[in-house]
Amino acid sequence: MGYFTKPIRKIRHMAKLGLPQPYDLCKAALEHDGLALQYVREKTAELCDIALRKNGAALQFVPPELHTIERYFLAVAHSAAALAFVDARPCTADEYCDICEMVFNDHGEDANMSLVDRETFIKAQNGEARYNHLCKLAAENGRLEGIAQPTAKLCEIAVKKNPNALAFVPEDLLTANLCRIAVEKDANALRYVPEYFRTNDLCLDAVNKNPKVLQYVKEQTPEVCRAAIKKQAGVISQVRDQTEDLCWFALEQDYEMINKILKPTVEMLAYTEAKRAVAAERKRLFDEEVRLFNEYLPLIYKKRDIIKAEPRFYSMPKPTALWGTSYVTFNNMGDHFVTLGELIELWENEPAFTAACKCGGTGVLYTFAGSPLSGSVWLRCRCIVCDEQFEGGHGKGLNIHGWRDVVAIRNKYHPKNPIAENPASYAELIAALEGRTLTEPPPPPSGLLDPGQSYIQLGRNPKNRYTFSFTNEE
Ligand SMILES: [Zn+2]
Repeated sequence: MGYFTKPIRKIRHMAKLGLPQPYDLCKAALEHDGLALQYVREKTAELCDIALRKNGAALQFVPPELHTIERYFLAVAHSAAALAFVDARPCTADEYCDICEMVFNDHGEDANMSLVDRETFIKAQNGEARYNHLCKLAAENGRLEGIAQPTAKLCEIAVKKNPNALAFVPEDLLTANLCRIAVEKDANALRYVPEYFRTNDLCLDAVNKNPKVLQYVKEQTPEVCRAAIKKQAGVISQVRDQTEDLCWFALEQDYEMINKILKPTVEMLAYTEAKRAVAAERKRLFDEEVRLFNEYLPLIYKKRDIIKAEPRFYSMPKPTALWGTSYVTFNNMGDHFVTLGELIELWENEPAFTAACKCGGTGVLYTFAGSPLSGSVWLRCRCIVCDEQFEGGHGKGLNIHGWRDVVAIRNKYHPKNPIAENPASYAELIAALEGRTLTEPPPPPSGLLDPGQSYIQLGRNPKNRYTFSFTNEE
């Protein structure tokens, strides 16, 4: 029914109390929702027509004495569902056929044969042939329901168009091939495949396409379960026999799956705890790198000569991405991460990467974002004198025209080659810049944490100098 507007609420209320309903109010209600005809007590021809024009299914509320051929055409022109309320009696068989055919011609996938009264239909001239033609149209739209005895050919046509039509294929026409066609198009159709056609291979294909259909697999072989879990660890919850082996396999994909394991062993719980502790520590280290970078940015700028001279400092990644954008994945657009050395070169050589602060000092760009579609860019600068953070950009002395320009400038710069095997941590860098020696052992830099598990993973690709990839841990 949807949302009740004020006029609908009013006429519904008046109908309940038996109060007179003003004509204009009824009209207003029906112009918003034809189904509101159910609340109109005096259903005039005009009001019915207004309702039918809005929603043909309002035909169910049209009083029998107002059922006419014209009104039927009006109703089915506006809704395939209206056919369910077309009464064959006021029509000749020929007229009834015309009405049905209009539904199939106008409403495509919404029309189906269960709405058609076969007995009346076939009394028309050429009724059988016309009926068969409608069945074919329905099958071509992927609808088999209501077709009393579909042929094998019709079934195949329908299933190819709509895999879920498999549900309406008569048992004697179900073949292994038809089931495969359906599952290949949509793995969810597996639920309509009878048990005797659910081969291991078919189930394997289905879960590889969509692991969630594991729930429809009755014979959950270890092979099928592993394939599904590999695609999506969470489907361990769909495994009816959670063997230790399968549980461990799920935990190896994602240790948080412990919550979906019904009877975790002590070892599994300990494993998860350990993994969580590592992740928490990794996050702490990462946050610390970010904090130090932000806090000491002015110092990093002032003592940049030290960084340029030492490869272990030069090669340190800036902890967070230099730039980000919606719409486009990072990898297509060049390096969105940057080493400290590159960043310093950008500051020194590229006017777009510095801006004048209102205090008269220099601001350095430390991150930017934008849209490649509109070309807009938002530059974040930080004053190395007064520490003020401000937006750089158009009209603020930056010699760039937009997002593409600033990305192109960034991509001119490359890390030191070869990139240092073990870049320093920020704690170590800050100590060096302040002329201290680090008393505690420095934490490992975020770039060198477990591959695939760190927030930022610094990888090296000999062809492409280096690539950074960003791993989202949630
Ligand atoms: Zn300033």
